[in-house]
Amino acid sequence: MRRDALYLKAYGKINLTLDILGLLPNGYHSVEMILQQVSVYDRLELRLTEEAGVRVENNRPWLPTDDRNLAVRAARAFFAYTGQERGLRIRITKFIPVAAGMAGGSADAAAVLVGLNRLLRAGLRQEELLRLGAQIGADVPFCILGGTVLARGIGEEMETLPPMPDCHILLAKPRQGVSTPQAYQKYDAAADRVRHPDTAACVQAIRAGDLAALAGRMHNVFEDALPIEAVRRLKETMLSCGALAAQMSGSGPTVFGLFDDADKAARAREACKGKAPFVFLCRPVRGIGG
Ligand code: ATP
Repeated sequence: MRRDALYLKAYGKINLTLDILGLLPNGYHSVEMILQQVSVYDRLELRLTEEAGVRVENNRPWLPTDDRNLAVRAARAFFAYTGQERGLRIRITKFIPVAAGMAGGSADAAAVLVGLNRLLRAGLRQEELLRLGAQIGADVPFCILGGTVLARGIGEEMETLPPMPDCHILLAKPRQGVSTPQAYQKYDAAADRVRHPDTAACVQAIRAGDLAALAGRMHNVFEDALPIEAVRRLKETMLSCGALAAQMSGSGPTVFGLFDDADKAARAREACKGKAPFVFLCRPVRGIGG
């Protein structure tokens, strides 16, 4: 029997590294980053309906439910590409913090593409899904692949890496949101003052399964370009509780700490609780190839 509904988990990501290499002729920044999917996720329900059109509902009243929602855009792109237009209701229960450097919107879009491919038995190959995803947003292809990935270009050139060494990852998002375009503007103004990560050494540490070496070489250039006091304080708290490293993800402001010890991670979670509205302990997620 054909199913008319599907339930999916859309996982968020952190940046183990984020480097900006320069400006491309089209005005985009060329980046080099190691992306890691983590076990905090939005829940999605996709339901085919008799009623035409794409409708989205979610548990954050201030999030757009029209074409500005990346999940809606993904559904429309999928229908246009396959020619299989259907009535669709998407119910999103968000847990990934929004505008936080964790690619929550991209994760939802990726889940819609993968989910519709299954629900409609459309048979799109992974390359086709990745290409469709890239039209929606630079992080969407990564969210389709998942796991641990070295991304270059504007994020669309991806090399799957072995899974990062297992560990405990504490996430803490300060109250303010950060707009990614504004973060790039601030970066441009500060470009000659930033420290760059040693991406090659981090890739090698991942291949060697060496968490301490990875933690010692990670960096995110946005931390130098966009100093945020709440980020500095959360990093300090995590490090004082025994994190091997603490860093901002993407253009922020989410901070994550890597721990090799569950007790230390739990202590850090308690210490961060009064300092940030979103504090969550999670683990790395293995991707399709991991
Ligand atoms: P990235 O790490 O890719 O820069 P982010 O984590 O900083 O992303 P998102 O949470 O993806 O940011 O949201 C960024 C913007 O996208 C928000 O302003 C939000 O209004 C919009 N948006 C559209 N669709 C969604 C969605 N399904 N979930 C969250 N945000 C969405």
